[in-house]
Amino acid sequence: MRVALHACCGPCLLEPFDALAAEHGVVVVYANPNIHPAAEYRHRRDTLLGYAVEQGIEVVEMPYDPALWIRAVTGFEDDSAARCRACFELRLGLTAIEALRCGCDALATTLTVSPYQDQDAIAEVGERVATAAGLVYLDVDFRDRYPEATRRSRELGMYRQNYCGCRPSELEAEAERESRRAERRLRRDQG
Ligand code: SF4
Repeated sequence: MRVALHACCGPCLLEPFDALAAEHGVVVVYANPNIHPAAEYRHRRDTLLGYAVEQGIEVVEMPYDPALWIRAVTGFEDDSAARCRACFELRLGLTAIEALRCGCDALATTLTVSPYQDQDAIAEVGERVATAAGLVYLDVDFRDRYPEATRRSRELGMYRQNYCGCRPSELEAEAERESRRAERRLRRDQG
């Protein structure tokens, strides 16, 4: 089987790629118009490409068009679960287009290695998008490989981002870090 593997970033590519490539032909599709800002998009892409070139992995980059993401999530500003679902649908939809163009039979995503993503939503969206395109969705939960992906990406000195990708996720992550810093300050002052 030839699989189009949607990849969100270099660290998340490592383990899912190895697992799938052991059984299938794999073409990696970098389809991530959700990433903000453009410099961050390029940094993640170049991290992934650096590894892929070294390993001889085939990668296709879909055009970076943040307006696509904005259109996809409009109306979900107050519902982060619905926003993420629309974001998965957009990225997997773009990957399905490329999968058909390059003669793939199946679709998968590296998003399933992350313990921070809604795995049920990814599985539901992946199945729907793949079926609509006449592809098989490989619903593989790679989360047990996340510690190894973390270890390898650190060892390789890969860039590891600290937010999911979109502007709201950047703000949410910064707010969480600030709240942890405030808690630490409070504990220190009390101790
Ligand atoms: S948090 Fe991540 S998955 Fe959700 S909309 Fe933002 S970039 Fe997409």
